[in-house]
Amino acid sequence: MATKFQNFINGRWVDAKSGRTFENRNPANWNDLVGTFPKSGKEDVDEAVNAARTAFEKWRLVPAPARGDLMRKIGDIMVRRKEEIAREMTREMGKVLAETRGDVQEGIDTAYYAAGEGRRLFGKTVPSELRNKFAMAIRVPIGVAGIITPWNFPMAIPTWKIFPAVLSGNTVVFKPASDTPKTATMLIDVMMEAGIPEGVVNIVHGGGGEVGNAIVSHPDIDLISFTGSTEIGKNISRMAAETLKRVSLELGGKNAQIVMDDADLDLALDGVLWGAFGTTGQRCTATSRLIVQEGVHDKFLGMLTERAKKLRLGDGLLPATEVGPCVNQSQQQTVQSYVEIGKKEGATLVAGGGIAKGAGLENGWFHEPTIFAGVKPSMRIAKEEIFGPVLSVVRIKTLEEAIGVLNDTIYGLSSSIYTRDVNKAFAAIRDIKTGITYVNAPTIGAEAHLPFGGVKQTGNGHREGGWTVYDFFTEWKAVYFDYSGSLQRAQIDNY
Ligand code: NAP
Repeated sequence: MATKFQNFINGRWVDAKSGRTFENRNPANWNDLVGTFPKSGKEDVDEAVNAARTAFEKWRLVPAPARGDLMRKIGDIMVRRKEEIAREMTREMGKVLAETRGDVQEGIDTAYYAAGEGRRLFGKTVPSELRNKFAMAIRVPIGVAGIITPWNFPMAIPTWKIFPAVLSGNTVVFKPASDTPKTATMLIDVMMEAGIPEGVVNIVHGGGGEVGNAIVSHPDIDLISFTGSTEIGKNISRMAAETLKRVSLELGGKNAQIVMDDADLDLALDGVLWGAFGTTGQRCTATSRLIVQEGVHDKFLGMLTERAKKLRLGDGLLPATEVGPCVNQSQQQTVQSYVEIGKKEGATLVAGGGIAKGAGLENGWFHEPTIFAGVKPSMRIAKEEIFGPVLSVVRIKTLEEAIGVLNDTIYGLSSSIYTRDVNKAFAAIRDIKTGITYVNAPTIGAEAHLPFGGVKQTGNGHREGGWTVYDFFTEWKAVYFDYSGSLQRAQIDNY
């Protein structure tokens, strides 16, 4: 049952001005058409920005606790519609139902966190250096936020951005990934049901080149919050420099799990299977490298390959499925090309390696969970983001070597170490260069109230999640209130 979907601009559902559309199909079964969506252009972005700019002048004056109350209502509606949204999300991007439920739950948690933040948004009061003078710093909204998101967390990532943006008093023009327009549309639908005023949130569907570029280069958009590949992130950074927009970039990763000789191997095994093959390896925090100490290397590799070969692929809506499809054909081909690169580089293929075949897999973009052993840190499969179910295993001798290998990448998002030795764990926490480090847990699984983001080329220093994202979506204003009734000059030697 395919449906025609629209943009949402100034409180109304509208087609692209050009009338063009694009299709969204189920990656587990390409015969299933999820819907058609507007293939928008610059003129649609212009209209959305106008609406957001007009709405901003009213929305910024709504008290933050009242904005928070709207967030609470949004959270309540998401709780009620969780299953419906999760099922549609699995249908349009393929990850298994347990994971899409988790994706929606992350949005719910973010809504309730934002609701509470409506009564905080703390500023600071500080003493003035002068008598009869009051000094404080307050947070103020910035203006119109351009939000551009990827397809792998089609509910969680938009909510990480849109909810704090709106709670802080900004208005939004949102372009979701072309692979997940349905989940994004459902988010807008939820916000509409909660009573979001017209123009505060606008969605413009369409390609990154057209709609994305138009948002980033628009002179009336004040800030950009982007999650996606490092390559596009760099383009955005360059383009946004023209108008000196504030830009938050959450980009690629090449995350690793270290397993030391003293680790609980069963625990480490569950961790790496989930980290590497959960979401079909299509997470920015996916475990793409496994760094194993030599004393347990051969045993652990044996345990791992045995379990990986048994993982059940299929439609994520089926209860038995453990690994869904790649999101589209191009992603499946990218994965396959890295398998070929790994073979050419001399790594040993110990599991998977091919396009998955079998009953129920004929019409989807499935790829076998794949493991390479004997990987050298210099190989491309050890350095580049693959964004699919491919794991590269590196053998090391010491903790220092393990950390050196882990850090030897341009990325720095997530990391993990399995050890029973508290001294080793703390040394790793200190020396690993990533924005997130897990001890005795896989590289994936962030919580909504903690800072999320990476170092090096994973980002540009901002953090989503928790209290930290509010530093991005608000401007600090210093306020001096002089009640002396006379001219007092700061920085003048009054004493
Ligand atoms: P992508 O190709 O970079 O696309 C991300 C978004 O940018 C999509 O909405 C895309 O639109 C849009 N876009 C494409 N070209 C653009 C342009 N020239 N100007 C403006 N926007 C443009 O990434 P993806 O394949 O969707 O997602 C996978 C990547 O995201 C991986 O690298 C992954 O590590 C990263 N990621 C990072 C995090 C994090 O928090 N660090 C989280 C999740 C994912 P279209 O869909 O229309 O092309």
